[in-house]
Amino acid sequence: MHVDVIVIGAGAAGLMCAGIAGQRGRTVLVLDHYPKLAEKIRISGGGRCNFTNRDLRPECYLSDNPHFCRSALSRYTVRDFIALVDKHRIPHHEKTLGQLFCDDSSQQIIDMLVAECEAGRVQWQRPSAVAGVAREGDGFRVETDRGPRFARSLVIASGGLTVPKIGATPFGYRVAEQFGLKVVPPKPALVPLALAPEWLARFGELSGASFDSNASCDGPVFREQTLLTHRGLSGPAILQASSYWQQAGGREPVLIDLLPDVDDAESWLQSSRPGGQTLASLLARQLPRRFAQQWVDFEGRGTWNAALVELPRATLADIARRLKGWAVQPSGTLGYNKAEVTLGGVDTRELDQKTMMARRIPGLYFVGEVVDVTGWLGGYNFQWAWSSGWCAGQAA
Ligand SMILES: Cc1cc2nc3c(=O)[nH]c(=O)nc-3n(C[C@H](O)[C@H](O)[C@H](O)COP(=O)(O)OP(=O)(O)OC[C@H]3O[C@@H](n4cnc5c(N)ncnc54)[C@H](O)[C@@H]3O)c2cc1C
Repeated sequence: MHVDVIVIGAGAAGLMCAGIAGQRGRTVLVLDHYPKLAEKIRISGGGRCNFTNRDLRPECYLSDNPHFCRSALSRYTVRDFIALVDKHRIPHHEKTLGQLFCDDSSQQIIDMLVAECEAGRVQWQRPSAVAGVAREGDGFRVETDRGPRFARSLVIASGGLTVPKIGATPFGYRVAEQFGLKVVPPKPALVPLALAPEWLARFGELSGASFDSNASCDGPVFREQTLLTHRGLSGPAILQASSYWQQAGGREPVLIDLLPDVDDAESWLQSSRPGGQTLASLLARQLPRRFAQQWVDFEGRGTWNAALVELPRATLADIARRLKGWAVQPSGTLGYNKAEVTLGGVDTRELDQKTMMARRIPGLYFVGEVVDVTGWLGGYNFQWAWSSGWCAGQAA
């Protein structure tokens, strides 16, 4: 069987690419090994798919080559995707921080992408295992469980490594390596962080407690919730900081501002001295009560339990510093089963920023999460899938 374009991976990026290439008049075959179509879209955003973000900026992406994503994101924009969603009459709303969700179900986004593929007469082969790919003439030969398939262009849209039980594999990285392309080592990102036993002994029992915070790690500061879990820390603020923690090699502490609405914590502590209250009781006005007490015991090693008025000024200054930047050193992450995205991937220096084609391998394209472009939490990763898939769909 010969077609113009074979797309491996029927997820967000692959479906977008296939529909666009098909509508340009290319013959397109989409292959995927997982029985359910676009399962990650289906489970995303709590079943409502946070499909893009109105406040998108290139700075919302991590990569070894940070400017690479600009071209694709400006060629196929947030507005373009919203127009597509509107064309298919999918009701949606903005939840918070520019995040757009379906009102009803993420299945509507899948149905929309399938309809776009059908408009491009895309052919399907799924579920179908792919044994390997090879150069053949000026095109590619793809070995499948239903025999060999041939195409001039091959688009790898096989995603990253998160949630292996719904079909994630390292296939895309292996193809890149097979063709001599560099891969930035993949790591789980947007992922809950694990804490060492001495931390868990204090905070693990508070699992479920959460508080407003500013979290960061060698990068931007995220004003969102931090959640305590029985294995460590989670919540949107921590998930966001986790990507930067991973990018920094896991060596830097995560800094959590426990008093995001208090600019000058030292003055706030000083002015709260009269009245005989303790630090824990003061903090319990801003933070969950049991967390406030555990934090005071842990950080103060039992020396901060006297009334505030009895604590020396230098101690209050130290407490203020720690409240505004609680330095937490994670022991690791909860891994790919709990991560939302994969940091790293096919090195973007190997790819053309306008088309996603491998510069040294004409006809070979990489789109979506398999590429070393990783978005923040909040619809940014889908937008990258749409934009990069669209660019390859225009060129393949
Ligand atoms: C729980 C969860 C919730 C998420 N929620 C959001 C959200 O609300 N907003 C957002 O922006 N991002 C979200 N993400 C991230 C987002 O889902 C991904 O970034 C996006 O799906 C990547 O698209 P992709 O097409 O590159 O890869 P995928 O969507 O992962 O698709 C890859 C496809 O390739 C197939 N494949 C893999 N290996 C092979 C192989 N060897 N042979 C054949 N086929 C193969 C897979 O079966 C899959 O269908 C979420 C992720 C998770 C895990």
